[in-house]
Amino acid sequence: MPSFQHLIDGRMVDAADGGWRDVHEPATGQVYARCADGNAADVERAVAAAAAAAPDWGRRPAGERAALLRRMADLVEQRLDAFAAAESRDSGKPVALARNVDIPRAVANLRFFAAAIETWDGASHAMPGQAINVTLRQPLGVAACISPWNLPLYLFTWKIAPALACGNAVVAKPSEITPCTATMLAEVALEAGLPAGVFNVVHGEGPAVGAPLVAHPQVKAVSFTGSTRTGAAIAAATAAQFKKVSLEMGGKNPAIVFADADLSDANLDTIVRSGFANQGEICLCGSRLLVQRSIYEDFRERYLTRVKALRVGDPEAAESDLGALVSKPHFDKVVACIERARSEGGTVLCGGQAVQLEGRCAEGWFVAPTVIESLPADCATNQEEIFGPVVTLMPFEDEADALALANGTGYGLAASLWTRDIDRAQRMASALEFGIVWINCWMLRDLRTPFGGVKQSGVGREGGVEALRFFTEAKNVCIAVHPAA
Ligand code: NAD
Repeated sequence: MPSFQHLIDGRMVDAADGGWRDVHEPATGQVYARCADGNAADVERAVAAAAAAAPDWGRRPAGERAALLRRMADLVEQRLDAFAAAESRDSGKPVALARNVDIPRAVANLRFFAAAIETWDGASHAMPGQAINVTLRQPLGVAACISPWNLPLYLFTWKIAPALACGNAVVAKPSEITPCTATMLAEVALEAGLPAGVFNVVHGEGPAVGAPLVAHPQVKAVSFTGSTRTGAAIAAATAAQFKKVSLEMGGKNPAIVFADADLSDANLDTIVRSGFANQGEICLCGSRLLVQRSIYEDFRERYLTRVKALRVGDPEAAESDLGALVSKPHFDKVVACIERARSEGGTVLCGGQAVQLEGRCAEGWFVAPTVIESLPADCATNQEEIFGPVVTLMPFEDEADALALANGTGYGLAASLWTRDIDRAQRMASALEFGIVWINCWMLRDLRTPFGGVKQSGVGREGGVEALRFFTEAKNVCIAVHPAA
């Protein structure tokens, strides 16, 4: 059985107290590995190693740090199949998705931030005859990177790559539910030759590892992606120390379809994917599908035909569109949410239950893609994040109605908008209370663009120069220009 260890101070090590936790394969429901079960003592060791390594790492030329990140990217790319198989087994996602999206994106993250740090221009401002101002962007020291289970390596690298590129030493805590590929990346970092202590990985549960990590006085910044509840706990725990905090949290994203939308087969496929990709376990998934009333019934038929054709199956099988949900507690939560929707008066148009597979997946945690209508906008199903393959359908009358429904939750991560009317698209985009608005597309990502949410979905932005700003401190140095004697 594989054993996933911590990476601390350049060595793969067991937990300080020798503890292990079981790691399950969602497709089979069985334990397939064990993982070091860390606690505050492991955090202490990792932060001490990072603090010792940070000054030298921060002084190295950007090109040297970038070269090491590129080496890591190359090593992951060379092992694409192994990483994809591991990610799929650990999280339940279809292996094709891991191979085509998640792992290539992790490689791209490492390469992107290597290039970004090499080309980032410092600012200088002249005060003619008086002074020249030079803005230095200095590393912070030790940064904590805390990531969730839904896109394990993709989001892990989205944080550690800019943190390391900017010259920080990192203590990273992957989700305890999906620790596999972070461990593989730790091994890759050793092989690539990252100096000891620059990159540390501590496994374990949130309260046991994440909480002491974010509260540690030597940790200067916390980059977190996960639930809004945990984000709030981190904000509270770090406030008195005035740490830099970036919080990427939950969502209840709308997809808004106007009567004038181009509903080509390809666009309909994208709208379906926007609800059900990765079993709906993507923070950006559109879980509220708002459709203009004049096309509602026609749209519903075409949409349902496609959703019913999605295949739920063994994540290892190439033909599976949806794999397993990540854990038994999450599976139970999603099934309970569907029951709650029924009790709120919802009509289940398709799906609505767990899927029982045969053979090796007989004990796995599979849920059918589910579409529900006839629910009020203010019910729990339409207000709370479910984070599974569940989409609600709601009709709207006009632009104002669509906007009120779209903005009418506590969240504000991403909205997608389907219309041929460019004026309407612009009006809606500026009035939607979301960090990301897609027009006639979904989840197209350019890594240079700012990424993040508003309201209960986030504080701060990741991506491109935003990430470089977050992981550095600006210092202005003002150099006087004296007149000739
Ligand atoms: P979670 O909040 O339960 O856990 C996320 C991470 O935080 C894990 O590593 C966990 O161990 C750690 N953690 C838990 N308690 C902690 C504490 N007190 N202090 C420090 N760390 C702690 O979230 P999850 O269930 O792993 O992930 C699903 C959630 O993530 C969903 O809400 C989803 O919307 C969100 N998400 C958001 C984005 C985004 O970019 N906005 C992306 C992906 C996922």
